[in-house]
Amino acid sequence: MLTVENTQKWLNNFYQKIEEHKDYLSELDTPIGDGDHGNNMMRGMVGVKESMARLQNPDLQALFKAIAMGLISKVGGASGPLYGTAFLEMAKKCTETQAAADLILVGLAGIKKRGGATEGDKTMVDVWSPVAHSSQLTTEVIAAAVAATKDMQAKKGRASYLGERSIGHLDPGAVSSGYLFTALIETEGI
Ligand code: ADP
Ligand code: MG
Ligand code: MG
Repeated sequence: MLTVENTQKWLNNFYQKIEEHKDYLSELDTPIGDGDHGNNMMRGMVGVKESMARLQNPDLQALFKAIAMGLISKVGGASGPLYGTAFLEMAKKCTETQAAADLILVGLAGIKKRGGATEGDKTMVDVWSPVAHSSQLTTEVIAAAVAATKDMQAKKGRASYLGERSIGHLDPGAVSSGYLFTALIETEGI
């Protein structure tokens, strides 16, 4: 069950993982992209932290919206609107359910609608989807989903311009999404 308190903890934990792995995320984005994913996500998480700090006694919906706006307004790259859309969709549905698994499914649908990617296109969808559909979310599920993007050929985003040469590299947005869900399962009470 997501609450205001544990969702804030989840996002603060995600912030720390992005800060820790910022350079690695940008390195992953260098051979198959433009080398900015770590910096984009770091800017986004600073934006999230600022917009969460401005809230006064928020409910879960206001919190999800603030997270989304922080990401959409600060990331700059393709990943910002996609992560942002996921949190906006979760904001809409959290009045009906606070079950993390259900909200992740709703976020996944938002990412797919916004970016037009489907499973196997070597994007963040390839982590969001197995996570959303797993009966029990574990670090193994996350790690396997992230690793599987290596052998995929990119069909969406910058990496798709490389065609077959995109094969053999992890997708940076899949790796950052892996951090998001690792941060989630590390958060007590969810
Ligand atoms: P940009 O490509 O604009 O520099 P980033 O480097 O921040 O943006 O993000 C790249 C990541 O965004 C990719 O690794 C991929 O996971 C994700 N991505 C790009 N396009 C799409 C899309 N259409 N649908 C889903 N995810 C996408
Ligand atoms: Mg990039
Ligand atoms: Mg870019």
